Amino acid sequence: MGGENAKSICPFCGVGCGVLRADSGKGRGWKAPVNRRGELCPKGVAAYDVLEHDDRLTEPQVREDGDLISVSWDEAFARIETEFGRIVADHGPDALGFFASSGCTNEENYILQKLARVLGTNNVDNCARLCHSSTVAAMQSRFGAGAMTNTLSDLTEADCFLVCGSNPAEQHPIIFSSYLAPAVNEGTTLIHIDPRENRTTELADHHLPVKPGYDIPLLNAMCAVIFEDGLENTKFLRERVSDVSAFREFISGIDPHEQAEVAGVDPDELRTVARIYASADRSAAFTGMGMSQHRYGTANVHALLNLALVTGNVGKRGTGVNPLRGKNNVQGASDVGALPDVLPGYRPVTDGDARAEIADAWGVEPPAKPGLTEVEMTHEFGDGIRGAFVFGENIGATEPNANRISRELDSLDCLVVQEIFPNETTAHADVVLPASSWAEKAGTVTNTDRQVQRMRPTSDPPGNARTDLDILCELSGRLANLTDEPFDYDEPEAVFAELTRVTPQYAGMSYAGIGEKSQRWPFPKGADEDSGGIGVLHRERFSSGARRAPLVPVEHVELVDEENGEDGKNSGRKPLVLTTGRVIEHFNSGVVTRRSDVLTHLRSTDALQIHPNDAAERGIEDGNRVVVENENGRVEASVAVTPSIRPGVVFLTFHFAERLVNRLTGDELDPESKIPTYKHVPVYVRRLE
Ligand code: SF4
Repeated sequence: MGGENAKSICPFCGVGCGVLRADSGKGRGWKAPVNRRGELCPKGVAAYDVLEHDDRLTEPQVREDGDLISVSWDEAFARIETEFGRIVADHGPDALGFFASSGCTNEENYILQKLARVLGTNNVDNCARLCHSSTVAAMQSRFGAGAMTNTLSDLTEADCFLVCGSNPAEQHPIIFSSYLAPAVNEGTTLIHIDPRENRTTELADHHLPVKPGYDIPLLNAMCAVIFEDGLENTKFLRERVSDVSAFREFISGIDPHEQAEVAGVDPDELRTVARIYASADRSAAFTGMGMSQHRYGTANVHALLNLALVTGNVGKRGTGVNPLRGKNNVQGASDVGALPDVLPGYRPVTDGDARAEIADAWGVEPPAKPGLTEVEMTHEFGDGIRGAFVFGENIGATEPNANRISRELDSLDCLVVQEIFPNETTAHADVVLPASSWAEKAGTVTNTDRQVQRMRPTSDPPGNARTDLDILCELSGRLANLTDEPFDYDEPEAVFAELTRVTPQYAGMSYAGIGEKSQRWPFPKGADEDSGGIGVLHRERFSSGARRAPLVPVEHVELVDEENGEDGKNSGRKPLVLTTGRVIEHFNSGVVTRRSDVLTHLRSTDALQIHPNDAAERGIEDGNRVVVENENGRVEASVAVTPSIRPGVVFLTFHFAERLVNRLTGDELDPESKIPTYKHVPVYVRRLE
């Protein structure tokens, strides 16, 4: 099914709204599983705007004497075949790195990770590494599933929403407008934990403007208040939780007043919020990148899981811990194995039984040694990694420390980029493969509450561009001298049928069963096709199989922040803490949305948000141009002086490549998940003379 008016899924955020191309050429919502009344945010309406844009890549290109020149597909594939073949012959398959795409389909990501593994390396990852890998690490280890515990529908039954480090009014607009806001208007209490007042805060009953990176003392203090006041759920603790005594002892050493002050929030307001969360019949926590993108991202989420377990807010409707996922298929790309340490279905590559099962399906056993993560691969560019295949990700802009990335992309022997527009990554490519946009191909995507839905094409790729699956399958054939099993699939449906056989969570799904609805994982084999899948997780047992999940004491580690300026507190060289985020009109590095005239008309630029006190200390006035700099790099920006951001903190979006905010972010990673620190970046700000 395809063509004009084909019912598809929005290509941008993880909400997963249904969209089709109306006769006007604009996106129009249809009554899909998520946007049940056909509602869309501005990005959804603009989703088809750029399909025929003049900048579309329509011809394969290879680099000759420093310039990219158009060539035939045969010549482009031949270059890859030669270069990747030489790299494998000289250095082994682990000298290759594959960057999968959380903006592409399950089928395409499945094929890419299969290609990497058949070639002999687990060096494959997707940008889930950059947004919620810490969330997944914490939830997988405690609950056995790194995904939303609940569904958007049942969450509307909550009496309290605790939104931590997320601004869903702008980042997940339809979740906010169609699920959270109506519930709040009906009486659900909204607590917002965020260093900034933003559009979500406007609806909140309580706002805790936490210092970036100080979520652990805040959440520990909430637990301490709950125990002090006897508000813990003793029945749930007895029946579903382990390691309770040790945790009680740990929390008894926490002074809530002191820890609230450490976190930079009012101790009385923290007590109020803790009591509301613990006393409500059903409290649902949401967690975003303000929690996850830290050196201590995994620990942050562990602290939130403690809060949910202590109060019994797991395993029933209207509760849980619910990560709001970023891109439209970041959940699915991970589910189907585009990760370096796990196979499809999150089974460790070190698990011999899982590898043997995969070998039965593929005819080739994947390697047992875990691969490198995205950022680790970039650190190895030109050294351990000699060739990289980047599929639909703009790593030149989205990885931390963009100046370093720019240099290191050039140090590769061969960089292949499969893309639809020129960007900060194709600028360094040796081979560019022109691919299909989301509206030019079929496949499935998995949204933030685990719903697998089908995308349908409205048109063919322009010029000589080809569908992503077509390119990946031919690539496997071209590398056949490296593999014994070139891939041969007629349609995405055939890939989906195969991936359901090796991805236990998807075992019972089918294209026919999904139809114009959705199937939500876990969807076991033999399940009623119309059942829609399992909604609330961890009801009787956790997904790990255990009846109980442990409480885990989490210690706060002091961060280097605004109090530790090299020249003293009030000098012009006092550092501020930069945190980054999104606005509703644009998406990620802006490669697609900034080519939409409508979205650019709605917002053509942004400004550095800075508190009036910090601006005054630096002689900065609203609208001034400033330099933002640190040891990693510098950017210039206009400023918006606003009391909506807490003192000591500044904010920029990451949509505007002309002043690439990732020139300022550094190389520090969370040791457990390897997520970079995007949300606590010490910078100096001075007026541009
Ligand atoms: Fe698309 Fe997300 Fe907006 Fe829905 S909320 S229309 S999925 S960008």
